Amino acid sequence: MNSEEKAAQLYETLRKIQESKGYFFNKDKEMVLELLAALQANKDHYGYMVCPCRLASGDRDQDKDIICPCVYREPDVKDYGSCYCGLYVSRDWNEEKIPHEYVPERRTPV
Ligand code: SF4
Repeated sequence: MNSEEKAAQLYETLRKIQESKGYFFNKDKEMVLELLAALQANKDHYGYMVCPCRLASGDRDQDKDIICPCVYREPDVKDYGSCYCGLYVSRDWNEEKIPHEYVPERRTPV
């Protein structure tokens, strides 16, 4: 399976799981598939799906807060309607019912 096919498979698997929890993929599917391909590449490289928008240390323990979905997703989607990367959003965000604001990094620099 090539990386595009892997990302498409990941899309379907994660979509079902995360939508049932109230988290939706960004309606920009092209961007979502790019982020999923980056997540898959991180998994192949590090052995875990670390956030594609942050710099990983390579130490699973140090990176545990940014393994996707990161611990910041819940407060970010609650406050801004989107996670830091814009991969996961709320239904209202996708339906343009709330403004699309910049999501600041919530993680404390290490
Ligand atoms: S910011 Fe979004 S893409 Fe990055 S780890 Fe958190 S939930 Fe995943």
